[in-house]
Amino acid sequence: MGNALLPPAVTGPWGLVQRMRYSLHSLSSHPGSSSLMLKLLFWLVIALIVGLFFAIRQANRARAAQTEERETQALESVRCAQCGVFVPEAKAVRRDGQDFCSWEHAEQWHQEHR
Ligand SMILES: [Zn+2]
Repeated sequence: MGNALLPPAVTGPWGLVQRMRYSLHSLSSHPGSSSLMLKLLFWLVIALIVGLFFAIRQANRARAAQTEERETQALESVRCAQCGVFVPEAKAVRRDGQDFCSWEHAEQWHQEHR
């Protein structure tokens, strides 16, 4: 207790930014040519954080889409008896104990296996 000189403990990315701003402010209060560099560095870091944030969000979204796709595939796909294509069971055409991708193939198969 009693660390009044420390920046407020804010968590998350914004807290990081606040803390960096704090430390940069204390550094740039000394006059010198390095303050411009520090400012540039500060914005560079901000850009990096924002870029990273969007990259992570993009990756998460891609992963979610992939999982969804995999789940759809795992969700009972059946094979067309005529052309061998895999179709989700909900879309499949069932006829005489066989599964087909379309009515056309069901009809074709039926004519060939009479
Ligand atoms: Zn088919």
